[in-house]
Amino acid sequence: MEEKGKKPTAIEMFLSKLFFMFLGAVTVMILVCAVLSFMADVKEKEAPKKDVDMDIDKPNIVKEYLTPNTYSRSQRKLKQVKGIVIHYTANPGSSAMDNRNYFENLRKKKTTYASSHFIVGLKGEIVQCMPLSEIAYASNKRNIDTISIECCHPDSSGKFSKRTYKSLIHLVAWLSEKYHVKQENIIRHYDVTGKMCPKYYVKHKKAWKKLKKDVKKYRREHREKLEPAKKEENVQTSF
Ligand SMILES: [Zn+2]
Repeated sequence: MEEKGKKPTAIEMFLSKLFFMFLGAVTVMILVCAVLSFMADVKEKEAPKKDVDMDIDKPNIVKEYLTPNTYSRSQRKLKQVKGIVIHYTANPGSSAMDNRNYFENLRKKKTTYASSHFIVGLKGEIVQCMPLSEIAYASNKRNIDTISIECCHPDSSGKFSKRTYKSLIHLVAWLSEKYHVKQENIIRHYDVTGKMCPKYYVKHKKAWKKLKKDVKKYRREHREKLEPAKKEENVQTSF
C-alpha cells in the first residue's frame, strides 16, 4: 500500500518540477522582452535629433562650459552671427581640453581676455566652451557677430591633423547651414586683424582655399544625399 502511494507522488513531483521550469522559462522570457523594449526605448531617446530645416547632422560636441567670469566668459549676448572665424591654438601638441582649461584658468590668473566657442582637438574631438548665444573673446572687433573655432595642431607648422581637419569641416558646414553663413564669411583671424592665425592657412593660401572648398563640398554632398527627390523636382521646374 505504501508503494502504491509513492508512485503518484513521484509523478506529482515530476509535474510540479515541469510546471516550475515552465514558469521559470516564461519569467525569463518576460524579463528579456522587458529589457529589450527598454533598450529600444533608450536608443530612440538617444538618437540624434535632426533639425527639420538642416541638411547636415550635428557633429559630436562635448559641452564643457567655462565658469562665467570677466576674462573668458562674460555672458554678453551674441546678437547675430554673420561669420565663422577659424584660429589655431599656437600651442603645438596641446589637447582641446588643455586649451579649454587655459581659458577657464584666466578667471583666476586675470592675465588676458581670451576664449573661443569651440576647440577642435588633435583626435577630432570638439569641445564647446559656451552657448552660442554668448560672445567669445577670440576675434577682436568681430567677436560681436561671429562664432570662433580654435584648432589644435601637432607641430609648429600649425597644420591641422587629418582628424582635426575632418571634424572642423563638419563643424563649419553644420554651423554655416544653421546660421546661413555664406562661403565668403568663413574667415581666418588673419582676415580680421592681420595676425598670423591660423598660421599654416595664412602661409599657404592654397590650403585655405581648399579648406573652404571642402566645406562647400561637404554641404553640397550632404544636401544631395538627403534630398534626391527635391533635386529632381528642381530640375523639372527649371524647364
Ligand atoms: Zn586666432
